[in-house]
Amino acid sequence: TDTPRGKEELLELDRKYVWHHMTAHNDNPMIVASGEGSWVTDVDGQRYLDGMSGLWCVNVGHGRKEIAEAAAQQMMTLAYATMVQAHIPSIELAAKLNKWLEGEYRIFFSNSGSDANEVAFKIARQYHHQNGNPTKHKFISRHRAYHGNSMGALGATGQSQRKLKYEPLGVGFSHVPPPYCYRCPFGQTKDSCSLQCAKAIEQAIVWEGPDSVAGVIVEPTITGGGMIVPHEGYLPMVSQICKKYNVLLIVDEVICGFGRSGKKFGHHNYGVKPDIVTMAKGLTSAYSPLSATAVSAELYATFQQAGPTSHFRHINTFGGNPVSCVVALKNLEILENEGLVGRSADIGNAFRARLTPLLEHPHVGDIRIFGSAMGIELVEDQGTKEPATPERVAQLIAACKSKGLLIGKNGDTVQGFANILTLSPPFSSTDQDVEFIIETLLSVFQTTPPERMMSRVDPAADYD
Ligand code: PMP
Repeated sequence: TDTPRGKEELLELDRKYVWHHMTAHNDNPMIVASGEGSWVTDVDGQRYLDGMSGLWCVNVGHGRKEIAEAAAQQMMTLAYATMVQAHIPSIELAAKLNKWLEGEYRIFFSNSGSDANEVAFKIARQYHHQNGNPTKHKFISRHRAYHGNSMGALGATGQSQRKLKYEPLGVGFSHVPPPYCYRCPFGQTKDSCSLQCAKAIEQAIVWEGPDSVAGVIVEPTITGGGMIVPHEGYLPMVSQICKKYNVLLIVDEVICGFGRSGKKFGHHNYGVKPDIVTMAKGLTSAYSPLSATAVSAELYATFQQAGPTSHFRHINTFGGNPVSCVVALKNLEILENEGLVGRSADIGNAFRARLTPLLEHPHVGDIRIFGSAMGIELVEDQGTKEPATPERVAQLIAACKSKGLLIGKNGDTVQGFANILTLSPPFSSTDQDVEFIIETLLSVFQTTPPERMMSRVDPAADYD
């Protein structure tokens, strides 16, 4: 029939047929009907500010007609071409990404962030093979980091709650402690810091055996694992360590890339030049699935040396399809024309200026901001830093939702650290939108959320 289904009927079908991410069951999901700018509207007409840009991706905001028009035009011109062929949108996009990266890179297109990381691992291994170092196959990653859902990317992930029950995963990944200043794994303070967290990577390379290590994978800031912003000396030191041992530096920019860090890419904040950069999410602002693995020109040269034996044996059917590529091009054009990378930094500065007083709240342990992405670490006790209970975290999220603000939550549920509220609104957010977020957070922390809201949030769910 043409009659739209009502909310109850939709919910009944949802309960019957849809398996939501992260949960076996979700009793009361919000059914989103439309989006405009930084706001989404549910089927009841209730509006919410999308404080997490969906899942760290809708950087240019919802309802961008210019992106829809570019996609429609491309669908009518050429909707699909295999990446074995060349096509105009992928050529244009690869060239544009080189400008954004501020370096010379070959671009391999895929569909998701997980795909992009798998490509990075395979290219790194093959690179060492072709350079006469076939035993270099292992990767070092950090605990708390998230790198994707597929067996290799999950192997690289350092969050046990996502891995238990699915092991064995891709082998050859080992983990070192994260650069987590608020809870320094090495017992140091800001004043006594000697970057033991970076040195732990060197130690891991040495102890694993440098001849066995292919690469190190890092996010510029661990976002999904709890907004863990490293000391500014961390990434430069990691980069030096990688060079010393002929280990490739793979930087996962799936969340941090395309302006979220306040610069074009997260690693631009630290002056390092990665060997491989992976990207997804903000590449298209989520208007179409697309990801990319950028490989430095030096690395790529190895793949050109030895004829067909040096081909990279990897293909995916939809990767780099023309429609997704024009969507990405239009998205990048919007980011450039509207100055949204700088706007992202401004949003973070507004959070910093107005929300720092929240540190006086007895349940706020730390506030960490990287570009426009913010994590508020909740504790039971500021002195002991005991993580806030899941119920307290859920209450605050529900209270925000009841006031029309959608926020996220991250951390590590197994370790009892799912206590970090996350926010990262579209960079296109207006001053009023930013004010709304700030005022809502301030008022939610001032008042005790009513009990009845607690059942509306699943304390087990968290969002990468
Ligand atoms: N890397 C990071 C840092 C991520 O946050 C994510 C997803 N949130 C991924 C990789 C995987 O991306 P996808 O879900 O598109 O596979």
